[in-house]
Parts: sequence; structure tokens; C-alpha cells
Amino acid sequence: MIKISPSSLNSFIECPRCFWLRYTKNIQHPDAPSSTLPNGVDYSLKAYYDHCREQGLVLPSELEGLLPGGLVQDQGLVDRMRKTTFGFDVAEDIRFQGALDDVLELSDGAMVPLDNKTKGFPVKEIHWTQIMQMSGYALILRENGFKTANRAFLVYWFLDHKTIDFSDPLHFRVAIEEVETKPEEVMQKIMEAVSVIKSDVMPEQGESCQFCPYRGIIIP
Ligand code: SF4
Repeated sequence: MIKISPSSLNSFIECPRCFWLRYTKNIQHPDAPSSTLPNGVDYSLKAYYDHCREQGLVLPSELEGLLPGGLVQDQGLVDRMRKTTFGFDVAEDIRFQGALDDVLELSDGAMVPLDNKTKGFPVKEIHWTQIMQMSGYALILRENGFKTANRAFLVYWFLDHKTIDFSDPLHFRVAIEEVETKPEEVMQKIMEAVSVIKSDVMPEQGESCQFCPYRGIIIP
């Protein structure tokens, strides 16, 4: 079974060669040390959302009036959607799966992805990888039989040193961005990714990463 997630699909779009090496040769992209802060904030926010649900709140107070719906109240359903195995079989040997942060229920009953993002600065633009990630989640919801819509919401929790409040210097601000999802584009990319995995030919490298060009220069 070939298992593809929204993040691995983004890595395919960024560099088909790295994706091919990972899936066919089990060679992973070179790793680098990274901060544990985003993961820690992510876990804390999930616990906070669950607490709000338990209290019967429609939304956390920070998000009130900013979103066109409320948190899905069924905690069991949210727990199921947070598993990395939440997905669907694209074909007999291909599965597309990924864990959502949370789900928003709109007034017409549609379920749309809600994702928390942590940033050190105010948001300037939505990166294409986030649009594809949300589109992947929308596709997974649709293929699991939920009524959905081509919408998703990113909740940015960010710091802003330019308007710092010295009585609470690490206070996270909140900004919401709506994303128009493109599930059909995701499906098309999944099929392209599968054909790359099934090929014996190593594809070209992408342009956004400098590891291979760097290595090529120092080790000709
Ligand atoms: S260029 Fe970067 S992403 Fe592409 S194969 Fe090399 S290490 Fe992987």
C-alpha cells in the first residue's frame, strides 16, 4: 500500500526527486535541528479546543466573531479525524491520509478543515503549501462522506514585537485566513505522484532546495 499524506504530496510538488528517493529507496531528505516550540503550541491548542468543547462552547473566546461556524462538538469524531490514518483508498494500493487539527461546522452543516499555525510575526501571505494541505484535508472529508465545501480556515497564532504589550510580552495574537480549497487539483497531484513512485527512473530535482546543487559543487 502506497500511503501519501498532504505534507508528503507537498514534498512531491517541491522536489519529485526527493519524493521518489523516499518512497522507492527509503532515503529521507537531510534533516536539520528544529525548534520544538511549534509542536508544543500545536498540542496545547488542541487541548484548549477540546477543553472548550467539553465546556459546551461554540468557539474558543479568541475566535468568537471571526469564523462563520462553530467547532464540531463530537469529541470522538474529532479524535478520529486527528489520527494520521484518517483518509481514504484512492485505489487498491494507494491511500491518501492525514490528521486534521480540528473541524468547523458551518450553518448549512458542511464540515470544513480548521488548522492552527504558529508564527513569530504577523501574517503577510498564505503559502501555497498551506492551501494544498487544506485542499487535501477537504478531499479527505469529502471522500469520507461528509458534507463539505471548498473552504478551509487557517488560524494564525502569532507574536508581534512592534506592538508588544510589556505586561504580557509573549501574548499570542490571532488572525484568521480563509482558503478556497482545490480538492480536484490534489487528486490530480496524487495520481502524478503515484506514477513517479511506480517509475524506475529518478526524476529531476526541484528548484526550492539547495542540498543537491550544493553537494554537486563540493563533490563533483
Ligand atoms: S534537491 Fe533537496 S529536496 Fe531535492 S532531492 Fe536533493 S535534497 Fe531532496
